Amino acid sequence: MPQYNPPLRDIRFVIHELLEANKTLAALPNYQDIDKETINQIIEEAGKFASEVAFPLNQIGDKEGCTRNEDGSVITPKGFKEAYQQYVDGGWPSLSCDPQYGGQGLPQLLNTVLYETLNSANQSWTMYPGLSHGAYECLHAHGTDEQKKVYLERLISGHWTGTMCLTEPQCGTDLGILKTKGDPLADGTYSITGTKIFISSGEHDLAENIVHLVLARLPDAPKGTKGISLFAVPKYLINSDGTLGARNQVTCGSLEHKMGIHGNATCVMNFDGAIGTLVGEPHKGLNAMFVMMNAARLGVGMQSLGLTEVAYQNSAAYAKERLQMRSLTGAKEPEKAADPIIVHPDVRRMLLTQRAYAEGARAFAYWVALMIDTELNHPNEDVRKDTADMVTLLTPIVKAFLTDNAFAATNEGMQVFGGHGYIAEWGMEQYVRDARINMIYEGTNTIQSLDLLGRKVLGDMGAKLRKFGKLVEAFIDKQGVRKEMQEFIDPLADIATKVEKLTKEIGMKAMMNHEEVGAAAVPYLRTVGHLVYAYLFARMAKIALNNKASGDSFYEAKLATARFYFEKLLPETAMLIRQARAGSKSLMAMPADLF
Ligand SMILES: Cc1cc2nc3c(=O)[nH]c(=O)nc-3n(C[C@H](O)[C@H](O)[C@H](O)COP(=O)(O)OP(=O)(O)OC[C@H]3O[C@@H](n4cnc5c(N)ncnc54)[C@H](O)[C@@H]3O)c2cc1C
Repeated sequence: MPQYNPPLRDIRFVIHELLEANKTLAALPNYQDIDKETINQIIEEAGKFASEVAFPLNQIGDKEGCTRNEDGSVITPKGFKEAYQQYVDGGWPSLSCDPQYGGQGLPQLLNTVLYETLNSANQSWTMYPGLSHGAYECLHAHGTDEQKKVYLERLISGHWTGTMCLTEPQCGTDLGILKTKGDPLADGTYSITGTKIFISSGEHDLAENIVHLVLARLPDAPKGTKGISLFAVPKYLINSDGTLGARNQVTCGSLEHKMGIHGNATCVMNFDGAIGTLVGEPHKGLNAMFVMMNAARLGVGMQSLGLTEVAYQNSAAYAKERLQMRSLTGAKEPEKAADPIIVHPDVRRMLLTQRAYAEGARAFAYWVALMIDTELNHPNEDVRKDTADMVTLLTPIVKAFLTDNAFAATNEGMQVFGGHGYIAEWGMEQYVRDARINMIYEGTNTIQSLDLLGRKVLGDMGAKLRKFGKLVEAFIDKQGVRKEMQEFIDPLADIATKVEKLTKEIGMKAMMNHEEVGAAAVPYLRTVGHLVYAYLFARMAKIALNNKASGDSFYEAKLATARFYFEKLLPETAMLIRQARAGSKSLMAMPADLF
């Protein structure tokens, strides 16, 4: 049976020592009163809920999966419903939501911590409240007063859940070719008709109502993405007094059988003249949906951080217990039949890879979450704009870099267990299967890479990237004079220079041939991901060095992980840069009919 202990020490380190979150929050009018103690208490309680309530259901959910009844209703695995009720009773859905609608008004940062721990515990279960939170954010930003009145309180309380309905059989990445129709009705509502596939949490028994946010086309819609509108379509219609009315014409046609996340219902949803209301302006639905898509992209990053952490914890514990072979430098535990496998260099490589990916991801994701708090709440418009630019730049990196790393990390976790990792009982193979989807949904990692390089970097001639570069430069200028920081500053400065040169080179090539962007995007995103991690690990190493004399082994471990990161993981960029520079020629040379 796998174990999960919320990594409270590292969570507190990132929030209080690395980010000094209280200083940032003190400048934001809504959060000035939140002290460290409150933050620590919430983190601890979140960890308790995750490890004691959600975690014990993870393997059950994987084995049982969801069941669809003939009438289209869906039953979630044993215990999911009770756990969700406990989540609602505990007020967790409302943590970072707007107090005007019953939310607790706490920072996004704390919600991010909550989601890390929940995802370590049980990604499938966490997707039910996770998507609801995205629906809340979308309606909060773009809903009419009436929609806010009807939906927000219920989503915030958790009594209703939400979904995002984009994908159709013929359209996944290319939303411009979606066919679902929204026909206006005399009373100002719309009749929605079409089929959506792969809809996470599309139907279930956890909550009394579900609000589907559906992309569809109005009759006069222009072709392509400029003709897409967004609609809120409830499972049960809502009477004028707010009570639930008749069943709407939206049903789950079938459940997908899939590789992982078995506890989450992935549904084909049939809309047969379902009644919906327009969210935002006609034909500007994609704009409104982007609020949910961006939240979901960061959410998928948190899924991957969660899985990386739990896989690491279990493989580290196993490596200390499992006895196989002797250390290359002579027996370490001669009284035993063999040494524990943690003595072997390559087992340590696998463990440290997972650990570095977990700690790097935590630092990165929490940093972005705190920037979102600043973007939404800072009194100064310029500060809001600058942080918004950074969040825009970094979002595809959170999505793609963390999810690729989590697949690698959970795989390493399974490998540490040897054959036992492949056997279901230990839980490690489930982590690999669950981690795999994160690289696909919410826009595949290729699409994230194209978004980063094409739109966010080259699209503004590198302006946003330069903002990030300035932070790195300032850190290098300040810390470069410290001898003990040299081992971190030199490689950081090196990768920063290389990213700058690579960006210019691809930009020049792209002017001649657009396929150069497509050919370079994936290795480019990974290279920039490493630049972000190098910057954050150098900052973490600085804190660890400053606290070396304290004798606290936490800092010793942090320094060891940072050193491993710089020596063993960052060098991947040498290969990535070569791949990015190699361009499109060899990719495009082969005629399609020869594949
Ligand atoms: C378990 C699960 C849950 C999901 N949950 C939801 C949900 O809740 N709501 C929802 O709306 N959708 C959901 N999805 C759908 C998911 O978001 C899509 O599967 C994903 O966006 C990719 O679309 P597609 O499968 O149609 O692949 P396609 O778009 O057909 O892409 C196939 C391949 O081509 C590549 N490709 C496409 N265009 C380009 C390009 N321009 N350049 C380079 N490569 C390209 C892709 O990267 C991919 O590798 C879910 C899917 C799964 C499997």
